[in-house]
Amino acid sequence: MSDFKILVVEDDRPVSNLITTTLKIHEYTNISASSGKEAISLCASHNPDLILLDLGLPDMDGIDVIRTIREWSSVMIIIISARSEDSDKIKALDAGADDYLTKPFSVDELMARIRASQRRLSYITKEGDQNPVFVNGPLSIDFASNLVTAGPQEIRLTGLEYRLLTLLAKNVGKVLTHSYIIDKIWGSGVDSDIVSLRVYMNSLRKKLRRACGEEELIVTHIGIGYQMIRK
Ligand code: CA
Repeated sequence: MSDFKILVVEDDRPVSNLITTTLKIHEYTNISASSGKEAISLCASHNPDLILLDLGLPDMDGIDVIRTIREWSSVMIIIISARSEDSDKIKALDAGADDYLTKPFSVDELMARIRASQRRLSYITKEGDQNPVFVNGPLSIDFASNLVTAGPQEIRLTGLEYRLLTLLAKNVGKVLTHSYIIDKIWGSGVDSDIVSLRVYMNSLRKKLRRACGEEELIVTHIGIGYQMIRK
């Protein structure tokens, strides 16, 4: 058994069984809850590394479960929900979820998301060692000197592009919503300007593509936001 502990929160028994059986096959330690209150209490008592959270729970909304847990914990949270509207995903991500998966989902995709969250966790832990250089695939960012490189080649960025890139890098693996990025880059007083964000992001991605090759480091979630993929 791996020491990576996963809390599965799902009230639909067949779905819950499918997830927990899959986790067991892949040798993950898991615990399960079928209500919001049980999820909050198990999170506090068992301190899991990752929570797979359904939004439609019998006693409370999953969004409120995220908000409650975020008051004291930075545990990784992946939403698995039948709610497929962009507004639902944005609400969950802004409440503090890290990623989402829409039902019906494939087991392979679920496992890929879990592995990505494990890689993200190991990066965050490593960053705690005060290593000021972020490395992801061909990309490397030296935070001390603001130097961005792909292999031996320096990537010249404007100040704003650099801030966008470091925001995504510091949240590698996490889907960041448009409003979250705009708030972090321009401040909360600014009217949400998704068009300008798209322009800056396109120019940043063009420079990265030119330096790092065709392999995309930043992916677009249409209508929602952006995510740097952990390579
Ligand atoms: Ca449900």
